[in-house]
Amino acid sequence: MRIDILTLFPEMCYAYLEQSIIGRARKKGALTIECENIRDYTADKHNRVDDAPYAGTTGMVMQAQPIYDCFKALCDTLGTRPHLIYLSPQGETFTQQKAIELSKMENIALLCGHYEGVDERVLEAIVDEEISCGDYVLTGGELPALMVADSVARMLPGVLPNEEAFMNDSHFAGLLEAPQYTRPYEWQGKTVPDILLSGHHAAVAQWKREQSLLRTASRRPDLLKVAKLTKEDIEFLEKNGYSFE
Ligand code: SAM
Repeated sequence: MRIDILTLFPEMCYAYLEQSIIGRARKKGALTIECENIRDYTADKHNRVDDAPYAGTTGMVMQAQPIYDCFKALCDTLGTRPHLIYLSPQGETFTQQKAIELSKMENIALLCGHYEGVDERVLEAIVDEEISCGDYVLTGGELPALMVADSVARMLPGVLPNEEAFMNDSHFAGLLEAPQYTRPYEWQGKTVPDILLSGHHAAVAQWKREQSLLRTASRRPDLLKVAKLTKEDIEFLEKNGYSFE
């Protein structure tokens, strides 16, 4: 899979993309993530990519031409048209399910706005969908683009050690993950639940499922309304005071 980030600040993105799990995955070729600098495509002799908005609101708006030409050049380089997502506080809120959907695509491109946003006409011309990272406003789309790229990347083969590493995570199957522990066994007088040291795989799996259900019920009961639950899950939750009414 290839992900391209269209941005005025590629260094900001590479600072993240060169580190840790994503950095290693890119190095070994598990996926490609590159940044395209929108400023490289300006037709303005002073290299400008933004201008004041019509009708007097404050700030600057990114112009249509450099973004359009940047995307066209990317399509030419790739020999295909990537699915183009504009990161926007007006888009659909990003979820794990959306990350799963995007991870099945061969090419996606992420358009980062900045300043007061982007000229609406180029969005209408080339954008396939808008994604928001939440109901708040950031100075630019780089952080949300990296969030999307990171969450998509970690589900691709060769990025994490195995599929289990993400399939048990919160939200993948609609629940929050059970609490986790590492060495030492005792820390500040608190010990690790003994079941985790028992070596009894079935009992550990059941404990984790129950903790996951209890945690979801207490922190995100809204998720339980849509999660796929077994008869045993429902009985366990009801026994522990959760009502499905
Ligand atoms: N004036 C715009 C509005 O009210 O909808 C907000 C512009 S914001 C200051 C600048 C850029 O940051 C946006 O073009 C977008 O790319 C990005 N951005 C800000 N908040 C975001 C969010 N919650 N999700 C995704 N992108 C966001």
